[in-house]
Order: sequence, then C-alpha cells, then structure tokens
Amino acid sequence: MHTLASPMTPGVLGIDVGGTKVALRIEPADTTAPIHADAPTGNGTSAGAATPVEATFRWASSASAGRDLGDLATHVAGLRARWTGPVTAVGVAMPATVDPAGRVTTWPGRPSWTGLALADALRGLVPEAVVACADDGDLAALAEADAAACPDLVYLGLGTGVGGGIVLDGRPCPRPGRGSAEIGHLVISAEGPPCTCGRQGCVQATASGPATLRRAARYRAGESGESGEEVTFAELRAAWLAGTGWAVRESAQAVAVAVVGLTELLHPALAVVGGGFADGLPGFAQAVDERARELGRPGHPPAPVRAAVLGGLSSLSGAILLARQAS
Ligand SMILES: [Zn+2]
Repeated sequence: MHTLASPMTPGVLGIDVGGTKVALRIEPADTTAPIHADAPTGNGTSAGAATPVEATFRWASSASAGRDLGDLATHVAGLRARWTGPVTAVGVAMPATVDPAGRVTTWPGRPSWTGLALADALRGLVPEAVVACADDGDLAALAEADAAACPDLVYLGLGTGVGGGIVLDGRPCPRPGRGSAEIGHLVISAEGPPCTCGRQGCVQATASGPATLRRAARYRAGESGESGEEVTFAELRAAWLAGTGWAVRESAQAVAVAVVGLTELLHPALAVVGGGFADGLPGFAQAVDERARELGRPGHPPAPVRAAVLGGLSSLSGAILLARQAS
C-alpha cells in the first residue's frame, strides 16, 4: 500500500482521461525519473523523496458530462487528501478533440462532453495549480520516446478507441497548434467496418478493444449458429493465449498496415504498441511486428514494432511529463 507523502513536498498531478476509465497519479514535482510499468510506486524517485499516490475509477455508464466532472472532482479531491504537500501543476491526457479555446468539439467515447468548456472545467479541479491539457496519444508517444531514449518513433495505443502519436527529433508531430496525429482514424480500407467517427475503414474501427470484442462475438455466433452473446476480454485473452488468434489477428493486421504506411512517410526508428487493450494481450506487439514485416515493401522493411515500455501507463506518464513542463 502507498504511504503518505513527506510533509509539504510539492507534487504534480497527472490525469489520464479514457472513454471508460480515468487514472490519476501525484508525483513529487522535482523528480525526472519516468514511471515504469513493472516498478512499484516509489521506485524511480530519489532517496527520501515522497512516494507517489495514485487512483483509478470508471465512469458511470451513460452519465452526463456534469456527472462525469463531479466524479472526477471527487476522485481528485480524494487523491489530494493522500498528498500532504501542494500540487503545483496538473497535466491532463485527453482522447477528445479540443479546439484552441479549450472546448470539446468531438468525443465519440463520451458524446455528452461535446461542447464542454474543458479548460475551464479542469482549472476548477485544483484551483491553485497550473493546468495543461494535450492529446493522450501525443503524450503517450512523448513518454514512450523518453522511456526508450528514442527521438523518432510512432506510437499506437489500443483501448476504447485507438490513439496514437508521432515523435520526430524528440518533438511531437504535428507541432503544437496544428492538431494531433489521429493515427486511429487512418483509413486502411475504404470498405472497412464503420467507425465511431462516422466514416468507414479507420484503424480504430477494426483494432479498438470494443471493435475486436464485437468481431469475436460475431465469429462465435457464426460457429454456434446462435445469435451473438457478448465476448468478455477474459475470454478473448484466453483464446489469444491458446493460440487461436480469434478476432485479435485482424486487429494486429490493422495496426501493422498503419505501421507500414507510417514508415513509408516518416521512417521512424521504432513503432510502439501500447494501451490497456494491447497491454493485456501478451505477444500482441510481436504479432504486429511479424505482420508488418510481411506487408513491407521489398527492400524497405517497416519500423520494428515493440510493446510499450510503460505498458498501459504511457498516457498517464505523458500527462505527468506535461505537468512537469507546465510547473
Ligand atoms: Zn474513424
């Protein structure tokens, strides 16, 4: 269990806002060590420093934006109560599209947030702190580049949707103010399945967690001849570990197609696959790597594909990096 922080150690708060759940973490403001997925909290800080505190919670299903913000405020307050020092900066990783004025323009994962004045709402969470918000895929890519000491990489994160980010020369691409890299909405098949964005054939429409589970349910219904019963992630994972490839194979292929296309354009040194969904499927990144190699143009191998060093924590780690930069 976590211990309380040393008295009055200044902290920074990272918040990773997902479509179904939210992760929060406060770390000492003065450490530069990255989070590692396999390191217990407390490692990675200098000797004698305060121990990070963290929490996760799930959104209530079909809740209004107001209810969601109320839940977020409750959990931020709960975490703040476990950190005895001031919180000087907050970094927020968001999957929604946000306009330059800080208003949510689209978020298929939680449609009720459309039109929300996000920047104002976030500032209200910790009024004494500087608050910065950025695309979760961009932040995850920066955190993975930092963790891998690799200044040129592409990142794809599989969860409720598919997020992604590009880092070139150690900096996000496109540069700030020019939008984010929407890798999840790369069209990989004009006749592909419908995407939550309203189009067909995006990477996300095939490779997101929900899209993969729906496909698995259709396959099972086809096998038994009965109408589709939902497939749980545990069932999907067990089938994957048993070597059937059931529905996951197409997701790996969709990500591989994206990696091959990104390699043609950007020539990254590395492609990193993470997010909670991929992190829960051991060997998924390797399957993407093998398929990408098969799809590569002769003589022009695609970037090697590796699992995210930070596991499912890439976006949260990026949010903390953002907070450090803002503080
Ligand atoms: Zn789309």
